[in-house]
Amino acid sequence: MFNLRFSREMALKEISVDGYEIIRNSYVVVVGIGATGSPAADLFVRAGVGKIRLIDGDTVDISNIHRQILYSENDVGRKKPDAASERLRIVNGGCEIESVPQFLSQENASELLGKPSIVIDGTDNMQTRRIINSYCVENRIPWVFISSIGTVSQAKGILPGSTSCLDCFVDRNLNYSMSCEETGVLASAPVMASSLAWTIALRILLNQDENGDLYYIDPWNLVMEKIHINRNPQCPTCSNIQN
Ligand SMILES: [Zn+2]
Repeated sequence: MFNLRFSREMALKEISVDGYEIIRNSYVVVVGIGATGSPAADLFVRAGVGKIRLIDGDTVDISNIHRQILYSENDVGRKKPDAASERLRIVNGGCEIESVPQFLSQENASELLGKPSIVIDGTDNMQTRRIINSYCVENRIPWVFISSIGTVSQAKGILPGSTSCLDCFVDRNLNYSMSCEETGVLASAPVMASSLAWTIALRILLNQDENGDLYYIDPWNLVMEKIHINRNPQCPTCSNIQN
């Protein structure tokens, strides 16, 4: 039956009815529901994904609201995934939404990440990204890396055994000691990167050609670059993983 709600999505030849069915049967895990995780989660729920799990142990702070688009003043002090899931259930009542108000760790990675179709990185630190990378590479789960600070953001799809993984490259554009608290963040930078990351995720779910290029975006300086990153044959995490 023709589904009016998703008709504009299905009308796209890049997605079509078949692609929508794949989205509807997909299970997405978003780790970190902040500046990058919020828009990505919002887009997945609007796109009609069947199930989404939101993982974050943090609470909403008033300083988050200028860029973390799922929250309002009323949410200050609440656990982020609780506030986000409440908001997203209003957006799409047909999507199964799970709130997991915990931080991801090495110890709970298997329990919290499980076996989804794809994982989205909405975190703000390399330590958690390394946990996601190790778990996803080991379990052959695709994931999308996103980072954002100052006026700059980056996004990259990671297909274990096919593309480079996080441990294959050292990001020279990012100073890992920087924090949004000290450096600040331009609100459009994480929103643009997470929109792009959501698109990369759809391409992966729909089996489109995805070569794991890193996208570097600086909206303030009107710059966007695509950087190809080869797999590192010495990578400690993925060098033994085959497609
Ligand atoms: Zn690697």
